[in-house]
Amino acid sequence: MPSFHKKIYISCDGKILPCEKVSHKYALGEVTDKCVNINPELIAEKYNQIFEILNHQCNRCHGKMFCGKCFFFIDQIDSNHPKCNAYMDLKDFYYTFGKLLGILEHTPSIYNNILKIKLS
Ligand code: SF4
Repeated sequence: MPSFHKKIYISCDGKILPCEKVSHKYALGEVTDKCVNINPELIAEKYNQIFEILNHQCNRCHGKMFCGKCFFFIDQIDSNHPKCNAYMDLKDFYYTFGKLLGILEHTPSIYNNILKIKLS
């Protein structure tokens, strides 16, 4: 989910956005010649609203453990019924997990490289 913890984007006309890929209609504030206009309460309210609406779908999603979906790219995120195209029911999860295990089984070097990754 997007936030300022990794990056921030400022457009050439001064709009502050969570990243360069997000539509300008989701600007979080603006930079002018005189000041920076940003309203943290409004941003928190908007994000909480979106989390609340998505929560129902995400809680049932079997892909939530490794979800990297940005909510600004979820269909109809502005509505009360957004539909995540990455949502996984149990059947989708078994299919995806099986496919990943198959890849590791047929290419053990990938598995060995994963084992070498140090988590910080
Ligand atoms: S994939 Fe979509 S539905 Fe599943 S947890 Fe992520 S955002 Fe929610």
